[in-house]
Amino acid sequence: MNFKTIDFSKYSSIKIGQKIKVSILEKCSDYKESHFLLGSCSNTLIGDNPPPLMILSKIYDYIKIEDNLLKIGGATPSGKIASFCKKHNIANFEFISHLPGTLGGLVYMNAGLKEFEIFNNLVSISTCQGDFKKEKINFGYRFTDISSPILEATFSISYGFDKEKVKTFKKMRSNQPSTPSAGSCFKNPEGDYAGRLIEAVGLKGKKVGGMEFSSEHANFLVNHGDGTFDDALYLIDEAKKRVYSKFDIKLECEIVILENDLI
Ligand SMILES: Cc1cc2nc3c(=O)[nH]c(=O)nc-3n(C[C@H](O)[C@H](O)[C@H](O)COP(=O)(O)OP(=O)(O)OC[C@H]3O[C@@H](n4cnc5c(N)ncnc54)[C@H](O)[C@@H]3O)c2cc1C
Repeated sequence: MNFKTIDFSKYSSIKIGQKIKVSILEKCSDYKESHFLLGSCSNTLIGDNPPPLMILSKIYDYIKIEDNLLKIGGATPSGKIASFCKKHNIANFEFISHLPGTLGGLVYMNAGLKEFEIFNNLVSISTCQGDFKKEKINFGYRFTDISSPILEATFSISYGFDKEKVKTFKKMRSNQPSTPSAGSCFKNPEGDYAGRLIEAVGLKGKKVGGMEFSSEHANFLVNHGDGTFDDALYLIDEAKKRVYSKFDIKLECEIVILENDLI
């Protein structure tokens, strides 16, 4: 098996982590259940003692049209998907242009913006446990029950790339900070907003070390440059405690936290 050393303080979108030797999955026989499969680490917080890590090989970075279906490899970055759809006048993927990640991470998280979610046009996925039609997968808001590496996903195609939608999505992002983060820290509880709850317990703009619940959007845990895993974890725990004590609501992390010492 091949390996690669990744500096997660640069690779991860939240700019936290250390240099780690990561295994590369080229074929399914390389896959080890003890390893955590990462995409571009746009939704993940690497701890001081994470489990062994794995990423998909670059051979899964491709997009093609076959039999009027869009086939995208698991390692394909969202920017490449957005550019391809624009170039080929394909509709319904406009929201991806402002969503960092790889196809595997986007599908696993059922990533999306408002009513636009990656599962909307999904037909099937190819994984190391075989192929699964969408109907066989449980999915919901930022959730799927996929339990095997996603190597490829197939989508239906509608034509008509909508530049106006791209502008709308860009606008929707305008209240979100550009400081490094891993996107929304918590899932929105049903009928409420995590950002509202964090603000209501006095944590909007709260800084610990280099980390802050952003004063622009409280559900974004941002790194001002020297933020550490401990700073991030302290704020996450504090928000959970305070929101539970004041509202009786258990906040659920949207960010994936990789730390063995928490288990
Ligand atoms: C500034 C910013 C804004 C964001 N805004 C949004 C938003 O509006 N909506 C939204 O939904 N998300 C948003 N996110 C989060 C992020 O864009 C998505 O969660 C994205 O899907 C993460 O993809 P990734 O490849 O980086 O996944 P990673 O962070 O690397 O991994 C996330 C999860 O996906 C799994 N995974 C990754 N690859 C595979 C694979 N090939 N097979 C199986 N499982 C895999 C991992 O095991 C992990 O559990 C935002 C992030 C940032 C930094």
